[in-house]
Amino acid sequence: MYEYILIRYGEIGLKGKNQRDFIKQLVKNIKRSVKSNLGKDAQINIERGRLFLKLNGDDPEIYYPSLNRVFGVLSYSPVRKVNLDLETIKASALEEFQSLPKPQSFRVTASRSNKRFPMKSPELQKTIGSHIYNNITDLKVNLHQPDVEVFLEIRDEGAYIYSKKLSGLGGMPVGTGGKAMLLLSGGIDSPVAGWLTIKRGIVVEAIHFHSYPYTSERSKEKVLDLAKVLAQYTGQINVHIVPFTKIQEEISKNCYESLWITIMRRFMFRIAEKIAHNRKALALVTGESLGQVASQTIDSMYAINHVINTPVLRPLVTMDKEEIMTIAKKIDTYDISIRPYEDCCTVFLPKEPKTKPKVEACEKGEARLNIDELVNEAVENTEIIAVYRDRKDEYGFF
Ligand code: ATP
Ligand code: MG
Repeated sequence: MYEYILIRYGEIGLKGKNQRDFIKQLVKNIKRSVKSNLGKDAQINIERGRLFLKLNGDDPEIYYPSLNRVFGVLSYSPVRKVNLDLETIKASALEEFQSLPKPQSFRVTASRSNKRFPMKSPELQKTIGSHIYNNITDLKVNLHQPDVEVFLEIRDEGAYIYSKKLSGLGGMPVGTGGKAMLLLSGGIDSPVAGWLTIKRGIVVEAIHFHSYPYTSERSKEKVLDLAKVLAQYTGQINVHIVPFTKIQEEISKNCYESLWITIMRRFMFRIAEKIAHNRKALALVTGESLGQVASQTIDSMYAINHVINTPVLRPLVTMDKEEIMTIAKKIDTYDISIRPYEDCCTVFLPKEPKTKPKVEACEKGEARLNIDELVNEAVENTEIIAVYRDRKDEYGFF
């Protein structure tokens, strides 16, 4: 029977206080994820560069979905703990081996921090290895490339045995990297951009520009559903729904059609920067990818970026659509993104958008608009909806 799950985290480049904060946040996030999925308070010990989650009689597998949603978890293993008695250790190691799907070859790797234990590591490896070998038919020992490696650790408080290693998501614990505002459309790209940002430990709040009645309630629901998927990794995502209709109407009435998209995006950035400031976020995040559409040429990015001072993170900037779609499928946003509801940009789509818009041309077009008033009005009428993982997480990054 398994007593613990051993959890490994990446610690490359982390030292001193950074490492302590990283571990503290990681433990907190694992506890939140378990609490939210299982309604349980996980008991986690921190020991020598690893974490031990105590199972208290639970099947370890019930914890895997929770661990698979926590950034910062590199890998994990269910672990047996037995008394420091050779016969008991042998039996437990064999039991561990028998729980695996028929490996052809194996090795035993032992370590002994408890020097009072009478057998040294090489001898232990041999003894435990022989015991497994003698009890399983058609099995080979392979020291260099075994199908399975059975690990045995002899410590003061007991012996630990494990062999399964499951991959986690890697990345950094959410909450260790500050906050950013994700411009979340209903498309395929921006949820992926959000997920990749969260992966680096950043807390994300979403901003969605909504053009009711040109876009329907259902397109808003789609965005909230996407936010819910992202909330699986953070616990909570606040979604700021910005009324964008008036701005789009003003732009389409007053500006050259070929510049609609560029000017619209400049408004999105201005509004997002204001909301970021109010929410103490230090960057915007978009799903832009170079060259994907007219508004994502480097000329367009320059013209759009020109209106703000806040850094814009573009995690997908060099990715091909195929690569982005692969991630979208892996993280379960793809099926939501391809639901056929219109986006605010498709409603006011010019026939021939400029691929090389000029800042001066945009400024000239915008001179007919009352920019500050339009931006402030949109920010003031923004609705905030909190989207939660499963049950309500009452802790908060927010
Ligand atoms: P996506 O798949 O994310 O919609 P896209 O390939 O359709 O991206 P665009 O429509 O050009 O690209 O949008 C570029 C980026 O601008 C999006 O990735 C998103 O970050 C932001 N964006 C576009 N429309 C909206 C919207 N209605 N609300 C919030 N952000 C938006
Ligand atoms: Mg889009």
